[in-house]
Amino acid sequence: MPADSGTGSGPAGRADGRARPTVELHRHFEAGLRPDTIARLAQRHGVTEVRTRKGVVVPRADPQDPASIRQYYRGIAEGFGRPDGFSRFADSFGLPLSVLRSIEDLEEAVFDQLVACAAGGSLHTELRGSPYTYQEQIAASVEEIAAALVRGVDRAWTERAVSGTFVLAFSRQKGLPGPGVVPEGGQARRIAELAARLHQDDRPVGLDIAGFPEVPYPPSRFADAIGPAREAGVPLTVHSGEQGRWPDFADAPPSLIVEAVECLGARRIGHGTSLAASQTARDCVRDHGVAVECCPVSNALMGFVPVAAHPLPIFLEEGLLVSLSTDDPLMFGPFTVAEAFDAIAGPLRLDSSALLTLTRNGIESAFVTDARRTLLRERLANQIRINH
Ligand SMILES: [Zn+2]
Repeated sequence: MPADSGTGSGPAGRADGRARPTVELHRHFEAGLRPDTIARLAQRHGVTEVRTRKGVVVPRADPQDPASIRQYYRGIAEGFGRPDGFSRFADSFGLPLSVLRSIEDLEEAVFDQLVACAAGGSLHTELRGSPYTYQEQIAASVEEIAAALVRGVDRAWTERAVSGTFVLAFSRQKGLPGPGVVPEGGQARRIAELAARLHQDDRPVGLDIAGFPEVPYPPSRFADAIGPAREAGVPLTVHSGEQGRWPDFADAPPSLIVEAVECLGARRIGHGTSLAASQTARDCVRDHGVAVECCPVSNALMGFVPVAAHPLPIFLEEGLLVSLSTDDPLMFGPFTVAEAFDAIAGPLRLDSSALLTLTRNGIESAFVTDARRTLLRERLANQIRINH
């Protein structure tokens, strides 16, 4: 058994211990590792220091002690208001990356995370990440790394009947050829080719364009590079409209979201908060049946939009296919969608029927086969019957 499965009796569950059914589509793999998993991997590999992404040792933090890890990340979350809040957050990815040392670690950690999410109520969970990032610590090809991530998904399904999908990501700032970009030619083409090779009709993988900042890297620049994935039928999600700041969202204009839909055929948009600034863009997203992966706790902590001003209720009212995710739970706090919902329900005046709509939307916009989608609808119906 994974050491850290079984969150259903925590805040994610109800008073009677039954977890509320959810779906999670936007969860970064390394930032979704639980402190117990990190400690176990640190013990396995003899990692005794917490280091930042830049290699600086963090004083008084013990990577083999889950309590110490939790305390470290509480400090990161509380520090978001400081001028160096964002760089401390980005640096804090150093810890989970430092304990993922082998192909076997990747497969096991994907498996464990999917099983733990299922125990917390998630009917289907999509993890995402860049093989190039994991390659910094693992002596293996990006092909071997991507295959291990997908094997973790396959094992969760065959051994535990836990539903998941892996979404292979690349950073937009490293996606295209340019000074200092490795590999030569950029990561976008290589990851798109990898996704095309791993994608199967009966077991999809997804593709994600991620990274900061958005404006210098508009979606249209990647149209050619991701061609192999598009031709193979790999579904695409794009981090877009995340970095716009409330109330005008000028730092990531909604036109970028429209461009991701119209130029790249994005099936989902990661965050999409800038849609709040444009009825035209919201209409475009809804009319194309494009889904929005909202992560309000992340958006609030990063300083983009306060929870109480988040447009998620507008998206729901207008019938957008919006779902709820945690984004980087290790850094932001709530580890399950149910916990994230509890954090936003009060400020946004959402009742339990909203959570059910978010879950239904998640099922309808998951990167899964038709057969899996039918099964997920049945599992949701069964869960609703049991909970009542
Ligand atoms: Zn994200």
